[in-house]
Amino acid sequence: MIQSYKKNPQLDKSYDAILIGTGIGCLCAGALLAKSGNKVLLLERHYTAGGFTHVFKRKGFEWDVGIHYIGEVQRPNSILRKLFDYVSDNKLKWDDMGDVYDSIIIGKERFDFIKGVENFKSKMGEYFPNEIKAIEKYINLIFSVNKVSAKFYMEKALSPIMSFFFSNYFRKKFLNYSDRTTYDVLREITSNEKLIKVLCGQYGDYGLPPKQSSFAMHASLAKHYMNGGSVPNGGSSKILETIGKVITKNGGTILVRAEVNEIIIENNKTKGVRLMDDNCIYANKVISGTGVFNTFKKLVPASISIKHKYLEKLKNVKPSVGYICLYVGLKGSSDDLNLPKNNLWIYPDDLDHDSCVDRFTKDNDEEFPLVYISFPSSKFSDWNDRYPGKSTIDIITMMPYESFSKWNKTTWKKRGLDYESKKEKFSQRLLTHLYNQLPHLKGAVEHYELSTPLSTEHFSNYKKGALYGIDHNPERFRQKFLKPKTKIKGLYITGQDIVTAGVGGGLFSGLITSATITGVNYLKKIF
Ligand SMILES: Cc1cc2nc3c(=O)[nH]c(=O)nc-3n(C[C@H](O)[C@H](O)[C@H](O)COP(=O)(O)OP(=O)(O)OC[C@H]3O[C@@H](n4cnc5c(N)ncnc54)[C@H](O)[C@@H]3O)c2cc1C
Repeated sequence: MIQSYKKNPQLDKSYDAILIGTGIGCLCAGALLAKSGNKVLLLERHYTAGGFTHVFKRKGFEWDVGIHYIGEVQRPNSILRKLFDYVSDNKLKWDDMGDVYDSIIIGKERFDFIKGVENFKSKMGEYFPNEIKAIEKYINLIFSVNKVSAKFYMEKALSPIMSFFFSNYFRKKFLNYSDRTTYDVLREITSNEKLIKVLCGQYGDYGLPPKQSSFAMHASLAKHYMNGGSVPNGGSSKILETIGKVITKNGGTILVRAEVNEIIIENNKTKGVRLMDDNCIYANKVISGTGVFNTFKKLVPASISIKHKYLEKLKNVKPSVGYICLYVGLKGSSDDLNLPKNNLWIYPDDLDHDSCVDRFTKDNDEEFPLVYISFPSSKFSDWNDRYPGKSTIDIITMMPYESFSKWNKTTWKKRGLDYESKKEKFSQRLLTHLYNQLPHLKGAVEHYELSTPLSTEHFSNYKKGALYGIDHNPERFRQKFLKPKTKIKGLYITGQDIVTAGVGGGLFSGLITSATITGVNYLKKIF
């Protein structure tokens, strides 16, 4: 199904659309366009496809890179579920994580997020009995934001002329929320700093602490998981496997090891792409799912990006923070080791989230501002059939790129002993957090390896190893250039940067990009 460019696959001279990247945005757009009769070609620079949905295997273990849980898919009629069903021809199935999806751990206290709005509300009420009104208000606000967000994102698919006249109508209410930081909004509801800290306990899912993040992002994320979390049945690789099959069944082609060097543009019209070996492939439509920095700083020729002021516009957004992830393999099944399904979010108890981030950014020897622990092997219902007697854990914390930038001229696996020793120090610190929570795991760890922001930069091509594309601050949502259609005829954007980070955001970006290109109302189609 997926071919390697290096093995000289049979390619056509031209395509209806070339998609750069194979993240969820491109997979979704590729499937929608292919199903609408377009001949599509997806080009991926990595040796494996799927972007952050890809999995990797080492020493008999398998880890997900960018999927630990996805919300909304357990409701058969949600937009996300319907869209996943449509682009996978109903082949993608889901495993529910159970009642508790996230546990926020602050010092010695633990706060469980329980699926179902009423359950969530009453559990929070138990933890904070004097804050019941504030919790009620918070939930109402979360839903109010989500009510107006569909219009905001739909505006991105309007033609320039329609957008000129109706943009304000579509965007205004959403911007009232997105212009404010999460902390400002929550502080208006309650003065209880601990409640604020707990309610923002998933901020790692969008990478910015509450005094910097847009409340619209927070609200979207909180609502996304309020009905619990799920993972693809059979492993995260099923996303690529099922959607990829739909693309190829409908005449599309997916190539890995096919890095695009430049988008060919003549007289402001897109003509195709030039690969690293100078080979050109032609299409009047090119869709970049590589992020806005890659698109306008690397792939579009500089003179054209300057002419359309894209370089200036990029100054209004910035890459999100980097991260390190410890991929842990253990001997023993999840049942043997009594591993939970819910994710753990561990925080220092002395300071608020923003101060913890500041403290760590200034000095990496200080406490991690957050430690996220996910237990993939216990979430997949068929894991034991695929990997009997083995289990896996991912441990993540945010990490400024600068902490590793001195090795950015070195190559993967050959970065030197000092790099390895810095990694080992961080690995041990992350393992200590794991053992603090689950001391019985000492002795069960068989393998671990740490990825750094340099690994993310190397594999995913995100500038400075950005965890989630561009930052989700208030300013981001004001940027009108973050939409599918560009000022260059035939060049479109998709992926997390034009909606939000998250597999759901990426999937939805594929829908609005395809709708922009074809004019088809896919929402009507999928329902
Ligand atoms: C550690 C981590 C954990 C996460 N956990 C979750 C989670 O639990 N739930 C959730 O919903 N989301 C999660 N996310 C976020 C989610 O995975 C992403 O937001 C989403 O997958 C991004 O999709 P995308 O379409 O923007 O493309 P990406 O997945 O970013 O893919 C872009 C692709 O473009 C390719 N590319 C770049 N340049 C070129 C080029 N020149 N030529 C060809 N190809 C190129 C890259 O190699 C890459 O494959 C997580 C992300 C990370 C990093």
